[in-house]
Amino acid sequence: MKKVRTRFAPSPTGFMHLGGLRTALYAYLFAKHNDGDFILRIEDTDRERFVEGALEVIYSSLLSSGLKYDEGPDVGGNYGPYVQSERKNLYLGYAKKLIDLGGAYYCFCSKERLESLTDENGNRKYDKHCLKISKEEAERRIANGESYVIRQNIPLEGKSSYEDLIYGTIEVDYSDLEDNILIKSDGMPTYNFANVVDDHLMEISHVIRGTEYLSSTPKYNLMYDAFGWERPVYIHLPTIMKDATRKLSKRYGDANFDDFISKGYVEEAIINYVALLGWCPKNNAEKMAVPEMIELFDLTGISKSPSIFDDVKLKWLNGEYLKAMSDEEFIKRAKPFFEKCDIGSLNVEKIAKLIKSRIEILSEIPEKIAFLIKREDFDKALYENKKQKTDYLLAEKVLPVVLKTLENISSFDNDTLFATLSQTAESLEIKSRQLFYVLRIALTGLEVTPGGATEVLEILGKEESISRVKSAIELLK
Ligand code: GLU
Repeated sequence: MKKVRTRFAPSPTGFMHLGGLRTALYAYLFAKHNDGDFILRIEDTDRERFVEGALEVIYSSLLSSGLKYDEGPDVGGNYGPYVQSERKNLYLGYAKKLIDLGGAYYCFCSKERLESLTDENGNRKYDKHCLKISKEEAERRIANGESYVIRQNIPLEGKSSYEDLIYGTIEVDYSDLEDNILIKSDGMPTYNFANVVDDHLMEISHVIRGTEYLSSTPKYNLMYDAFGWERPVYIHLPTIMKDATRKLSKRYGDANFDDFISKGYVEEAIINYVALLGWCPKNNAEKMAVPEMIELFDLTGISKSPSIFDDVKLKWLNGEYLKAMSDEEFIKRAKPFFEKCDIGSLNVEKIAKLIKSRIEILSEIPEKIAFLIKREDFDKALYENKKQKTDYLLAEKVLPVVLKTLENISSFDNDTLFATLSQTAESLEIKSRQLFYVLRIALTGLEVTPGGATEVLEILGKEESISRVKSAIELLK
C-alpha cells in the first residue's frame, strides 16, 4: 500500500474549534495507526481574515493534545512550505495549465455585472460569460493591466460520483455546481484550488475533513482528473452539534479549546472526549489516552450521523483524569485556580490530596476550598443530624473538651488527631463519629465538606483550628 499521509489544514482563525481538533485527531490517528505521516498545513489564503498569533494557537493546541505532526510550518519537512501564503507563486502556473487543459478560464467580469446575476431569492450563479473569450484576447487584456480572476470550468451536464469511506457513494449533478474562482484578483488561490494542488504536491493519500466538503469534492475531482493526478481517498466526518439543531459555536464558549482549558478542563480529557464524538472503538472503551486510540482507531467505528456534545460526559471524563493524576501533576495544572484563592500559609499538597478526587473540573477549586480560607458564621441548627444523633446540645458539651485536647495534643497530623480525639470521645461516652461530626461543623460551618474533621484540622493547623473551635463555642452562647 502507498504510504499513508494525512493532513490537518486549518485556517488561522485565532482559536482551535473542537470540531477542527477532532478532524486533526482522526487524521493523526489514521496516519499513526497505519504507520503513516501526519502533516500540518496552514490555509491562510484569505489574508483579510488573518489573525495575529493564530499560528501559535494551532501549534500549541495540537501539541498539548498529544498530536505531534511530522511535517509543518514550524518543524519543516520535504514538502514545504507548509503555509499557503508562502506557496502563492506556485498556484498560478497550475491554474494556467488547467486553462490549457480546458478545466478553467480567465474571467474579467466587473463586480456590478456579477451582482446583476443575483436572482429574486438572492442566489447567484456565474453564467460562464467569459468562457467565450479566447486565450489570446485574455492574455492581451491581462498584459494591458486589466484585473482578472481564474474560474473553474464545470461541465453543464452530467454527474460526478466518488466513494467516501464513511458516506459511501456520493453523486452530484454538475448543474448543481458553480464555476468558482480558483485564483483571485490578488493572485492568491482560493481554498477550492489550493487544497487540490497542495494535497497532490504533498502526496496526501487520505483527505480527512468535515462533511461540509462532501458536496464540493466533485469539483476537486474534476481537477485531479484534468491534471491526470490520482485522486486521494476521502473520509468526511460528521458534524458536532450542541443540540439537535445548533452546531457547536465559539460564540457560546462551547467550541473553543482554550475556553475549555480556562474553564478547568485538562487537555487529555478534552482530546479523549473529542475522540468519542463520532467514533466508538470496537472494545467500547471510553477513557483512552492517545497512544491507545492509535491502536484502536478504525474507520468502521465512525458514525455518519452528527454527534451531540455532552457536557456531563466531558465533565465526568475530566474528573477521571484528575483522579488518576499524581499529586504533583494535579498541583501544576491547578495552579491558576489556586491562585484565585487566598490560601495564605495553608499547605497546597494537603489541600490537593483532599480535593483531587472530589472535583470534576479545576474551576470548582475556589468554591470547594473556600471554607478552609474562611469559616462563615452559622446557625446552631446545623449541628442537628438525626442519623448521627447530634445537635447543638451535644456540641455544647463536646466542644470545650475537644478544645482542651487540641491545645494539649503533641502533634497535629491526621493519625495522631484521629487517635487522640477518639479517646476524647470515649471519655465523653459518645461515639467517635458523633464527636467528629460536631467538630467538623464547628470548624467549617458546612453540612457537607470534602474530608472529615481530622483532615480539615491537619490542613488548618493548630492555631487556626483552635481559634475556630473557640469561636464556635462563642456562637453557641
Ligand atoms: N481550511 C479548511 C478548513 O479549515 C480545510 C478543509 C480541508 O481539510 O480540506 O475547513
